[in-house]
Amino acid sequence: MYNFSAGPAQLPLPVLEQAAAELTDWRGSGMSVLEVSHRGKDFVECAADAEAILRSVAGVPDNYRVLFLAGGATGQFSAIPANLTAPGDPAAFLNTGQWSAKAIKEAGRQGVVVNTLADEAASSYTTTPAEGSFTVPVDAAYLHYTPNETIGGVEFPYIPDAGDVPLVADFSSTYLSRPIDVSRYGVIYGGAQKNLGPAGLAVVIVREDLLGRARPDVPAIWDWTVMAAKDSMLNTPPTFSIYLLGLILHWIEGTGGLAAMGERNRAKAARLYEAIDASDFYANPVEARSRSWMNIPFTLADPTLDADFLAGAAAAGLTNLKGHRSVGGMRASIYNAMPAEGVTALIDYMADFERTRA
Ligand SMILES: *Cc1c(COP(=O)(O)O)cnc(C)c1O
Repeated sequence: MYNFSAGPAQLPLPVLEQAAAELTDWRGSGMSVLEVSHRGKDFVECAADAEAILRSVAGVPDNYRVLFLAGGATGQFSAIPANLTAPGDPAAFLNTGQWSAKAIKEAGRQGVVVNTLADEAASSYTTTPAEGSFTVPVDAAYLHYTPNETIGGVEFPYIPDAGDVPLVADFSSTYLSRPIDVSRYGVIYGGAQKNLGPAGLAVVIVREDLLGRARPDVPAIWDWTVMAAKDSMLNTPPTFSIYLLGLILHWIEGTGGLAAMGERNRAKAARLYEAIDASDFYANPVEARSRSWMNIPFTLADPTLDADFLAGAAAAGLTNLKGHRSVGGMRASIYNAMPAEGVTALIDYMADFERTRA
């Protein structure tokens, strides 16, 4: 089965098999990882290993802290203003779709003076702002953007230049999909359930000089400084999710690291876009330079065939292709764990369907 779900998404089969094999007897303990103390030697080692492998795979510099937090990316929409601003402080935003909009909305709720430097509404969120087309005010507490909009399938082809203003990025749906220059960012965060593991876990990489700025009344559990001091274990962390994250990071390393991952992802997306563009039956609305490598929405020329398309796909072992309710049509999410063969199977199915139904 090839699962094109946008999230929670397909995980690497070898990782699932290892987790299944270890589930009832982890590290010879006679217990599962789900049943042991987070303060015990085995789990403390497991969490430390997940951090170490993340640092080595992503090349995280020493002046950044890595946090494993509950609450997913949405939890961080709340944590960012609380950690980086006082009420009334200005912050800057790039609005490229539904996830950027949620980060903006939450900042507004917390009294941040929202300065939207670019809003791609005019293109129905099928574009990213041109590089150099906006200037970040020096008094902004941070610049927030969404490198990959999961719903629209829109991805920045560049890292925005924020000058000395900390750049904050929601990497949820493109986390570790290719090499990343962490040093360009103040804060990188994302939910794990697209590229890195189970839902509910947020992976946060924060530059040390941005710690210690939290509002005095921020709940301790949302305070990055407290969480960094406690190695993300102020309370019981999502232990199974951290364990699985570690397995996935080792899988990434074992398949050649981020350079090889990026090359595979680029090639998978290129083949699917090529197939869509070569046909008059399928269409993708996103401007060429901003097309996502991870989430590829496409429509059928005749939407009355959508249900047949989806039923035939499921019968062929291609599942969860239905587009987001706000966009319609189809969406193929092809994260790290989607093998090249899955994309080939989808392209073959699309060609067959077009031949018989167009
Ligand atoms: C999925 C997603 C989120 C939401 O993640 P949760 O873990 O459900 O909070 C936020 N931002 C982006 C870009 C996403 O793809």
